[in-house]
Amino acid sequence: MKVILCLWKFGSNGSFSVKNAYLLSQQSRFHCEKPVWKVLWKLKLHPRQSVFSWRILSAWLPLKSRLRFQGHDDKKCALCGNEAETEIHVFCQCPFARSIWFLSPWGLRTDTLSVDSFEEFFLWLCSSDDDWLVEVSACVLEAIWRCRNELVFQGKNPSTALILKNIASRAAEFSQILSSFGDAAQLGGENRLSEPVQDFQDNLFDACFYVDASVVDNAAGIGVSLCTVSSVLEAELTAILTALEQAWADNYQTILIKSDSKVAVEALRLGELPLAWGSFPVFKACLKFVSMFSVSFQFIKRDLNFLADYLASQARVNHVSQMSYLLGSQPPFVVDM
Ligand SMILES: [Zn+2]
Repeated sequence: MKVILCLWKFGSNGSFSVKNAYLLSQQSRFHCEKPVWKVLWKLKLHPRQSVFSWRILSAWLPLKSRLRFQGHDDKKCALCGNEAETEIHVFCQCPFARSIWFLSPWGLRTDTLSVDSFEEFFLWLCSSDDDWLVEVSACVLEAIWRCRNELVFQGKNPSTALILKNIASRAAEFSQILSSFGDAAQLGGENRLSEPVQDFQDNLFDACFYVDASVVDNAAGIGVSLCTVSSVLEAELTAILTALEQAWADNYQTILIKSDSKVAVEALRLGELPLAWGSFPVFKACLKFVSMFSVSFQFIKRDLNFLADYLASQARVNHVSQMSYLLGSQPPFVVDM
């Protein structure tokens, strides 16, 4: 018996369907599905943020470079006036956008990225595997667009400090909204840092270091010594690194480091630095010491860290090039470097 098998080669399972035939006949009208769409709709973002990202990726924002009406010859970026106002320029390459990305929790230098389109930039942001950073990214994109519109339509010059504050509060707000839908475990921010603070008995350790940093205009007093830093977190980590170096030099076997930087303490406990890769070299140096002897980290409130705080301020104000540190509950003292 002869069996004839008919297959519809355009169907995924070989079966014919009217829908499939229709899509095939209308192929020229539909765009190919871009990989970025699959990435976008899987992100844990507020729907409003997903739609805004989709609008940028679909080239639907009314950027000057796209406006065609008569008499509109100005195609330059509203924020810097140097380049054509395109998606990749406004959200990534514009000096204004670059400063916001760098000062945001990302600590990102977009000028070091080799991306040619907004889609490439967006995919790069989403590849971080950190839902909190992706959330921050969405807030940064919204903030940049809002500033651009306020400047164009209201003549309002953007204030970097206000924008950063706004990004931080919106990211926290959106994280909270999403966590109320059951995604709490996936998102970072305050949730990441809200593990119960461990209690330590100081007398179980060979030494106990209180560390702190005082930062103004990139000059940091490190409770401790004067140096230049690019962020407050880097300064706090440098203070911790200085304590670790001193403990190692003094041959202590078990030490406790107390800091009022919750981010630094949690990052060192987890062995991950989630918020600012600019501080990574110092963080890595700290981790190296952590593997060499027994170190515990404890977060303490700022008012309990007043001596280290005072030393850090003094080191910065007086340009001290010596190191001061506290041992146990003894008063502070200064050691020549
Ligand atoms: Zn620009």
